[in-house]
Amino acid sequence: MSRYDEQNMLGKTIRSDRCVFCGRPSYEQHHVVPRARGGTEGPTVAVCGWGNASGCHGLLHSGRLWLRWDGTHWLWLATPDGCSIEEAWSREGWKPLLSTAETVELVTYGRGRHELDTR
Ligand SMILES: [Zn+2]
Ligand SMILES: [Zn+2]
Repeated sequence: MSRYDEQNMLGKTIRSDRCVFCGRPSYEQHHVVPRARGGTEGPTVAVCGWGNASGCHGLLHSGRLWLRWDGTHWLWLATPDGCSIEEAWSREGWKPLLSTAETVELVTYGRGRHELDTR
């Protein structure tokens, strides 16, 4: 397991009926550390999309959206061009993910994010 994965294994699971990125209805729990890399018991977050090929879940699985645990919060970064985890973590612009306690704000604020992510 890489140091990125080890750091993310410490993160908190977020369960919600809304996607943590865009606030749309959530149908999946995404394993932040992929099960194939040992993340089965690691944190999951609620995301939109069907399977892992659409919505924010699709962005996560195609290297265009990232999560990073900073010790207290999840930070997120969109890389619309797609990249590796090493490159994503070296880039600037990581922002805190809003908590699920702020669902209403998340919906309002989050839609803009989704448009940003998929542009
Ligand atoms: Zn996933
Ligand atoms: Zn979403």
